[in-house]
Amino acid sequence: MQILHPFAGSVQQYTEQLSDPDCCRPDHCPQCHTKHPLSAHGFYTRTLIDTAYDGVIRVRRYLCQACQRTVSLLPEFVLPYLRSSLTVIALFLIARLLQAQTLNGAAQTALPPMPYQRGQFWVRRFRAQAEALCAALAALTQPAPAPDFVHRALAMLESTGWIAAHRFLFAGVRCHLLGWPRGLAPAGRRAAFSAADAPA
Ligand SMILES: [Zn+2]
Repeated sequence: MQILHPFAGSVQQYTEQLSDPDCCRPDHCPQCHTKHPLSAHGFYTRTLIDTAYDGVIRVRRYLCQACQRTVSLLPEFVLPYLRSSLTVIALFLIARLLQAQTLNGAAQTALPPMPYQRGQFWVRRFRAQAEALCAALAALTQPAPAPDFVHRALAMLESTGWIAAHRFLFAGVRCHLLGWPRGLAPAGRRAAFSAADAPA
């Protein structure tokens, strides 16, 4: 299961903090709710594209001794299962959907520039998720007057701050800002006996 690393800062600050396993060690298991601090359980690596970073970051994992399941602590600037940082995705969505730039234009002016298909994929997922975002974010901010859910969701994200909104959505209500990939909906957890996990 993935939860958020309770830390806001740059990629570099995140990397520096990672060496200390006690820094953000969860004091209980979010899966079986045993009230016992989790054990450090190594790292996994994932790629990250941020406005000034394109490389691999480590993500710390902890193990619950009671239920033997792992918990990984994702930094707040990433969305689960997406390579680009939340900032990169937000800048693209604003350029394309609020400022009405063309797909290609928004992709060319994005930091770093990228193939437009990647942005198109985010836009598609964001459109599908917009109504649910408006409903969930109403707990944080006043729904803004807007012609449609896409514009309203963007206005609400801008007023809340994208990272603060992501923290609330992911940690609070297990909602993915762009929607969970198929198979992990509705709460980002793998079904216990999904076909993909079954031994061959
Ligand atoms: Zn547990």
